[in-house]
Amino acid sequence: MKVLLVEDELKLARALEKGLRAEGFAVDKAEDGLRGLEMALGCRHDVLILDVMLPYMDGFEVLARIRRERCKVPVILLTARSGLDDRVKGLDLGADDYLAKPFDFPELLARIRAITRRPSSEPQLILRVADLELNLGSHELRRAGQIIPLRTKEYALMELFMRRKGLVLSRNMILDHVWASDMDYGDASNLVDVYVAQLRKKIDAGREQKLLQTLRGTGYVLRDPS
Ligand code: CA
Repeated sequence: MKVLLVEDELKLARALEKGLRAEGFAVDKAEDGLRGLEMALGCRHDVLILDVMLPYMDGFEVLARIRRERCKVPVILLTARSGLDDRVKGLDLGADDYLAKPFDFPELLARIRAITRRPSSEPQLILRVADLELNLGSHELRRAGQIIPLRTKEYALMELFMRRKGLVLSRNMILDHVWASDMDYGDASNLVDVYVAQLRKKIDAGREQKLLQTLRGTGYVLRDPS
């Protein structure tokens, strides 16, 4: 799951980013409203966490503009004020939820889970390919009923493959989703190869049916071979 965080308080933004990454989310960040709008309009995020008081363009305006462009990303507004006016205005403009600062991180996580689980944006809680099952609620991966433990990045990678089952994913696309665009990649394509190899070992080693396949020169695909 990919989160766009638009927040100009750098300390808070950094803390939220760290917490979200630890929970397996990929995070993109913007520090002002204009940049946030530009990134949100790419419509590549599963959730937008949007501060109201921002430089250049406030969160209400950002929200109004992305909804005008028919971008349906679920939005959680962060407001310094808990005033009813702000809440009503935010919800009227198409926010899905709001949090008044200061808030506890688990509260934000709970809101994110709740809005991404709503039927419109998240019809299934369990994703399946052959006998492989990923539970988006509990974060458990099972093959033929057996639990396969995953590290944080492996989970993010697995979720991406599951959501795009049968589709070929390039290394760049995987990097973009799992490692977010602000990272210093270094030898990035190698990083993807290493993680895919680890994941393959976990799900396919010793099994007759290999689900995670390499397409030489193109990328990777998760599919049911039968
Ligand atoms: Ca602010």
